[in-house]
Amino acid sequence: MSKFHIALKGLIFIAVCHLSYAQERLVALTIDDLPFVGPVNNQKGDINRFTQLVTQIDERQVPATGFIIAGSIAKGQDELLTYFKQKGYSLGNHTYTHINLNRVGATRYIADLDKSEERLQGVLTYPKYFRYPYLAEGRGNDKQVVQEYLQNHDYVIAPVTIDSKDYKFNGRLLAVNWKHREERLEGIKKDYLTYIDKQITEAEKLHGPERPEILLVHANLLNSHAMGEVIDLFKNRGYRFISLEEALRLQKEQDLAKEKAKNQVAYTQE
Ligand SMILES: [Zn+2]
Repeated sequence: MSKFHIALKGLIFIAVCHLSYAQERLVALTIDDLPFVGPVNNQKGDINRFTQLVTQIDERQVPATGFIIAGSIAKGQDELLTYFKQKGYSLGNHTYTHINLNRVGATRYIADLDKSEERLQGVLTYPKYFRYPYLAEGRGNDKQVVQEYLQNHDYVIAPVTIDSKDYKFNGRLLAVNWKHREERLEGIKKDYLTYIDKQITEAEKLHGPERPEILLVHANLLNSHAMGEVIDLFKNRGYRFISLEEALRLQKEQDLAKEKAKNQVAYTQE
């Protein structure tokens, strides 16, 4: 190789590094409603759908956090959660019955949480994460009481910054008779990916390029076919997948830095 070629290779290398550094964005993958097996939870006989979903994440070597509906763990499905955990992914709590805090009071909600706490002992990973079903955080006193409960039980609330709204597209797929699903899958998948692509653009506008995003998808039939392509879409847009723990840590650091800068401005203006 000539000196010129070596120098050229060096330049390209520097340019690529610079480009990837400048454009790298971060995202954490979170998957709600585990353990999913059939078209609906609690259905036996379709373990492949769960393993298909996990395999697509595994093949792309990205971190992930799953959120369990404790009351939907059917007989024999604890093994699926163990398998998920053994792959190095995190597991958080998503209530016992997928209860909605915008519809019930704190007392009923906390009774449900107590049940999930008990069921998920030894299943959850650390730090302990909690995701509100329907992202419903409640209002007023109910909201505060539940937040205090979560805090007292060492839960970190897992927010969402990009909602894939995958349940809409999954609903379309489930509405198709199973005999015709395969032929309809590609079209629905295309619409789904186009929608996520738009959601990413919106989030970037809203949060700026530095802010790590937290993506919400569900363990469902659609994602058992599309999870890999969702991850690839992010990667093609320059995203690197990080753990939820890292995303939350970076978000906190950025908030603190912003707060500090604000205080400094206020100080110099005095
Ligand atoms: Zn859910």
